[in-house]
Amino acid sequence: MKRWLSLGAALLACLAAAGACTAREEATVAELQAQLLQQIKADAWETRGYTGRGVLSERVMAAMAEVPRHEYVDRYGPAAAYANRPLPIGHGQTISQPFIVALMTDLLNPEADHVVLEIGTGSGYQAAVLAALVSRVYSIEIIPELAESAERRLARLGVENVAVKTGDGYYGWPEAGPFDGIIVTAVGPDIPPALVAQLKPGGRMVLPVGTQYTAQNLTVVTRRADGGTDEEQVLPVAFVPLTGDR
Ligand code: SAM
Repeated sequence: MKRWLSLGAALLACLAAAGACTAREEATVAELQAQLLQQIKADAWETRGYTGRGVLSERVMAAMAEVPRHEYVDRYGPAAAYANRPLPIGHGQTISQPFIVALMTDLLNPEADHVVLEIGTGSGYQAAVLAALVSRVYSIEIIPELAESAERRLARLGVENVAVKTGDGYYGWPEAGPFDGIIVTAVGPDIPPALVAQLKPGGRMVLPVGTQYTAQNLTVVTRRADGGTDEEQVLPVAFVPLTGDR
């Protein structure tokens, strides 16, 4: 099953649809993406003292190489799409820096038969990266317009194993769980108890913890077999807030 459109296929589609992509532009996108992958590797190595992961897994790097980021930030040109930095995606929200997407994905220890929940669909990019690595992704977005556009974008790009819904991800998606892994891509002051409850024993949750204007730490929560959790703070980060009426 073809679950996502590869970068090469995306460029061919661009050529066929618009007839406007020159060979030079195609080469540029490939070059920019190759540079981005090198920067992700360099960032992983530089932050190894915090993360303990100087080298990200080959599967995660392959997913980063396969998912066409420019399709998820299509209001920008390739130079911005493949820069190693966050970008606005409308409604006051951002798509995360590619290194952080790669690191969070790696920290989840994704396996091919895993079912994963994402909180904060945004553009759908992180969901697409996860979709390349696991069997099923459920993703919740609180802003209806973003949820709808991400769902349309993922369908257009042939990503078939992601389900998106509008809602407050703080409460998770209990009907779809329990999950092997949960990624939260917006920051809150606590670890949502409902999300812990929806993790399988041994399951991992990767999330920023803190507030928008103070210190935030990327945190890995592992659910133990006895229902308790182990928590590890991994890296200082900066995320948009987890919103909702609580
Ligand atoms: N993962 C996204 C991507 O790849 O484009 C980027 C996520 S952006 C950093 C954080 C997202 O979380 C925003 O789209 C925001 O609207 C969403 N969000 C904030 N609070 C939320 C909540 N309580 N439930 C679900 N989504 C939420």
